[in-house]
Amino acid sequence: MRTPRRPATAGATWSTTWRTTLAAALAVSCAPAARPATTPTPTTPAPATPSATSAPRTSSAAPAALSADEARLRDAVRARYDDAVALLARAVDIPSGTHNLAGVRRVGDLFGEELRRLGFDVRWASLPDSLRRAGHLVAERRGTRGPRMLLIGHLDTVFEGENQGWVRTDTTARGAGSSDMKGGDVAMILALRALHETGQLEGMSITVVMTGDEELPGRPLSIARAALIDAAKRSDVALAFEGGSATRVAIGRRGASTWTLNVRARQGHSSGIFSAGAGYGATYEGVRILDEWRRAMAGERGLTFNVGLVAGGERVQLDSTGNSATASGKDNIIPPTFVASGDLRFLRDAQRDSARARMRAVLARALPGATAELTFEDGYPAMAVTPANERLLAVFDGTSRALGYPAVESTAPESRGAGDVSFVAPYVPGIDGLGVDGRGSHSPQESVSLPSLRMAAERAAVFMARLARGWTRQ
Ligand SMILES: [Zn+2]
Repeated sequence: MRTPRRPATAGATWSTTWRTTLAAALAVSCAPAARPATTPTPTTPAPATPSATSAPRTSSAAPAALSADEARLRDAVRARYDDAVALLARAVDIPSGTHNLAGVRRVGDLFGEELRRLGFDVRWASLPDSLRRAGHLVAERRGTRGPRMLLIGHLDTVFEGENQGWVRTDTTARGAGSSDMKGGDVAMILALRALHETGQLEGMSITVVMTGDEELPGRPLSIARAALIDAAKRSDVALAFEGGSATRVAIGRRGASTWTLNVRARQGHSSGIFSAGAGYGATYEGVRILDEWRRAMAGERGLTFNVGLVAGGERVQLDSTGNSATASGKDNIIPPTFVASGDLRFLRDAQRDSARARMRAVLARALPGATAELTFEDGYPAMAVTPANERLLAVFDGTSRALGYPAVESTAPESRGAGDVSFVAPYVPGIDGLGVDGRGSHSPQESVSLPSLRMAAERAAVFMARLARGWTRQ
């Protein structure tokens, strides 16, 4: 559904409002924590030129100026900004913690309706009941112009969201999911709306997938992420709208998996420990293994392996989650049981495999009387920094500067956890962090910087338009 754009004077009003409210935004955002992010005022936008601006640029190059079509996109975003904030408020006021299946579905219905108005075919990808997850929103718009784009968002929030509704304070607003990532979802929708209203969505091929369980994916992951991976296989680039900042995006994210170590040893009287007959017990062997892992592998770039839980003794019981253990033992009993578990994070899947092989090798040098078993469970694959991802960053950086926003660099892959974009990384080049800037993510104080919603949408709209003109597989 098209509605008329605002009169041209809206731009002037916007400009004044922007500058007035920016000071407040800075005052809120520049609190103690060191972070690069506040939403800057765009500097004088580059003049509109009729020239095509599709070529990827590096940060050192002068940004390609906004074309007339791109300036129209920017203006369309600004004209719909208030509507977008209202949409975000409605979304945040629907509690949608991962386990609130009805709430997740309602947020999906809200965003699905917006996308349907933009000409998307919208469906709900359900999951088997055994996963106890709501499912995902999938919306497609078919075309033949430019690369097939996959846009990634999520509908669920970390907290259940009760009593964490929308509270706006000037240029910031609080609420569950306000920045992670209903704000990113709305920035995506606002960008698509601007493309639609300026006639530039026509012919583009876009699949939107908003997952319903990003914060706590259902298991097995192969089923929980089937719809997302399936969409990736039919796409040429992936754009993810998790939280961003003015100056940083992610083109690499570490993968994550878990491990569990079980050690068995002979039980006996403590007085005989270290003797040939009694052996060393399970605890010394377990501790030896953990310590050798640390000595051999700690400090390797991009690799971390945390020991999250340890228990040893005469008897150890893990509960069904694997996150809680009870242990019992006596001073005079050589312990027969030791259990430890933790995670393993890595830059590339090859690094994961190498680390696992080295961890296993340590088990072979067992202390007398003990044997150990090590199991791994796959989680998120690594999103490696590839040349194609760097090209996406170059186009995005040029887009940001053409709009008068700062240059954009990538965050170190080590600095971010894994996200939904990680699941599609094996199939398609991707870039993440195109969403809004906020604070207190994964805390009850979560908030969003509202000017960043406008910035995110302006950049996403022009970015997609540039990709549609100039992106080629290499
Ligand atoms: Zn998120």
